[in-house]
Amino acid sequence: AHLDRISAVDGDLNAFLHVDQDAALATARDIDSRRADGEELHALAGVPIAVKDVVVTEGQPTTAGSKILEGWIPPYDATLVTALREAGLPILGKTNMDEFAMGSSTETSAYGPTRNPWDRDRIPGGSGGGSAAAVGSYEAPLAIGTDTGGSIRQPGAVTGTVGVKPTYGSVSRYGLIAMASSLDQAGPVTRTVEDSALLHELIAGHDPHDSTSLTDPVGSFAAAARTKDVKGLRVGVIEELEGEGFAPEVSARFTESLEQLERAGAEIVRVSCPNFRYALGAYYLIMPSEASSNLAKFDGMRFGLRVIPEDHPTAENVMKATRGAGFGDEVKRRILLGTYALSAGYFDAYYGSAQKVRTLVQRDFAAAFEQVDVLASPTSPTVAFRLGEKVDDPMAMYMNDIATIPANLAGTPGISIPSGLAEDGLPAGIQFLAPARADERLYRVGGALE
Ligand code: GLN
Repeated sequence: AHLDRISAVDGDLNAFLHVDQDAALATARDIDSRRADGEELHALAGVPIAVKDVVVTEGQPTTAGSKILEGWIPPYDATLVTALREAGLPILGKTNMDEFAMGSSTETSAYGPTRNPWDRDRIPGGSGGGSAAAVGSYEAPLAIGTDTGGSIRQPGAVTGTVGVKPTYGSVSRYGLIAMASSLDQAGPVTRTVEDSALLHELIAGHDPHDSTSLTDPVGSFAAAARTKDVKGLRVGVIEELEGEGFAPEVSARFTESLEQLERAGAEIVRVSCPNFRYALGAYYLIMPSEASSNLAKFDGMRFGLRVIPEDHPTAENVMKATRGAGFGDEVKRRILLGTYALSAGYFDAYYGSAQKVRTLVQRDFAAAFEQVDVLASPTSPTVAFRLGEKVDDPMAMYMNDIATIPANLAGTPGISIPSGLAEDGLPAGIQFLAPARADERLYRVGGALE
């Protein structure tokens, strides 16, 4: 049914870069026969899933939305993909994304934008717009995204789906094409909170292949989602993430969701995180710095595209020609920004200052979580904007991440849940944030809103 749905709507939506019908059907049939044999299977066995194209899949193309990886077939699976395969989830294919996960609209993909299933003239958010649109349009019941500055939560908000950024280190990064290694985290995109919980439990866990992987036992997320009990839970509304810049109806749906929690017995209080106002600036120094280093390996020698100039085809000239042709404008902009921020003489002023701000944001979280159990804000300041509306204005594009970025800087978990329809009848999202390793709280509060 999902493959049929993809055939019917994906010509318009462009949520998938690659669909692997035969492999998906083979897994589905295998699960059917194992189930018929009475084998005890994972709760998600046989439930199809779409995987963001920044996650490597053995034998299946993986481009990260970039021309520079066109034609590259990874020789191995990411650890999280191994978990999906072992549990018997048919992988439908790979989803579209902003190039190397740089963007908030999926418009920087080298393979054309994805459209929002609610209004095809609008963006589906980004960078994981393909995963969110696939779930929002019923092409897939589950998807995997990655969140470096909001790329799971913000697309979730603007497509009416649930998206979770787990605690940094709880899901292995092995096999994720790195953008900013200290911020990247993979997580679920689904239609319900409980689905996210089940998927999160499946992909989390210690992995010796990832040096930042936590050794904690995986929490009981699905059980937390099912309690629907928020009595006595203290929810802190972040003062710095409301008012100016937030669309009136997005704010109204946010307030209504809080009222719903209050009726269910939660206590709503206001908290201040004064350094959050500097988070966006710090992110746009740290993220490009790490990306400029991570993307140095795409040199025309090792993976995918290789452009050989006619004149003087030296190794250096092949690298220049390949990177010139293979990377899009946003990727080049960030490599330039990052290289500049890391250069001798500027390192302390830019990268060093940004790291100090990062510590201040972490302290804001620590102080806030002394007063409350979870924090809340609208996920994205607006509903989905029109395709093309912000492509030429990087600053306007970066502002979409104002509410999501602090959690990445602090390594803390977050969930976005639909809060209702706002401007132009389009979905808005509410975001909850919890302390590191307290992801269970997100499911408890999220489950209570469904
Ligand atoms: N939109 C943000 C950016 O452009 C976040 C991207 C992400 O989380 N991958 O960097």
